Amino acid sequence: MRPPPPQPSTAPLAPGLYIVATPIGNLRDMTLRAIDILAGADLVLAEDTRVAAKLLSAYDLKARVERYDDHTDARRRPQILQQLAEGARVALVSDAGTPLVSDPGYRLVRAAAEAGVAVFAAPGASAALAALAVSGLPTDRFLFAGFPPPKSGPRRAFLAELVPIRATLILYETGPRLSDSLADMLAVFGDREAVVARELTKLHETVVRGPISALIAAFASGPPRGEIVILLGPGESPAATEADADAALLDALTRSGPAEAAAGVAKALGLNRRELYRRALDLQGRQDRP
Ligand code: SAM
Repeated sequence: MRPPPPQPSTAPLAPGLYIVATPIGNLRDMTLRAIDILAGADLVLAEDTRVAAKLLSAYDLKARVERYDDHTDARRRPQILQQLAEGARVALVSDAGTPLVSDPGYRLVRAAAEAGVAVFAAPGASAALAALAVSGLPTDRFLFAGFPPPKSGPRRAFLAELVPIRATLILYETGPRLSDSLADMLAVFGDREAVVARELTKLHETVVRGPISALIAAFASGPPRGEIVILLGPGESPAATEADADAALLDALTRSGPAEAAAGVAKALGLNRRELYRRALDLQGRQDRP
């Protein structure tokens, strides 16, 4: 039997705007602090009030919920800022995951910060980071690029801008568009290492890893159901040119002798140390000439 939901804290909430992450599927990924904030807020702003009502009832919470999204933003923002200025505790949630991550809230947070209102993060689930964590792709540098455009022409142009970025790329996509999107990725990036993470934290969670061509084959039988994150590996670094090697050697020679400079540059650029040593001597000789 599941334990009952934890009881909210009775400590009072400070006035301000709270950006509250909620689960991306598994209701047990709600944080205790998110429960405290939703229980103590004067007002909960939600993208979809029905989704928010379901979420609140799952944790036995009662709260005043009002709609806030990109359509209501211009009309609602001044009123919300007024309430915040008067000391209200306002929580913002989205349908799932972290608000503002491909979800509404950016303009409200910016306006609140500009008005001197305290903005608090109540972090928790986000599909982008959950997918990155299980992808097996490099995590030292990553770029979240949101949803690619739905049509192929603009999508290829959007993807082409990402090609030179040497980082793991994280994109959101829908099931019906997955195959077309992967086909455009193959055309634009070549057969890079990639991952499709589907229905994370839910019953049908699946993570498929492989070159883009293998992912296209894996989903060839029809569009998958559910929610999807696509990740692309950083790809190979372009081969260093002679000019790159010379520039790196000249820089290294300002700090060390030719042998050390050659060893350092060989390691950094993946080039032959002996050849770089000869080149370093040559460059040093030129520098020493009057
Ligand atoms: N703010 C949310 C977050 O922090 O993850 C994202 C909102 S965005 C409108 C919804 C997209 O997130 C979906 O189309 C899908 O690409 C991704 N997503 C959300 N939940 C997911 C899950 N459980 N598994 C995989 N992808 C998910």
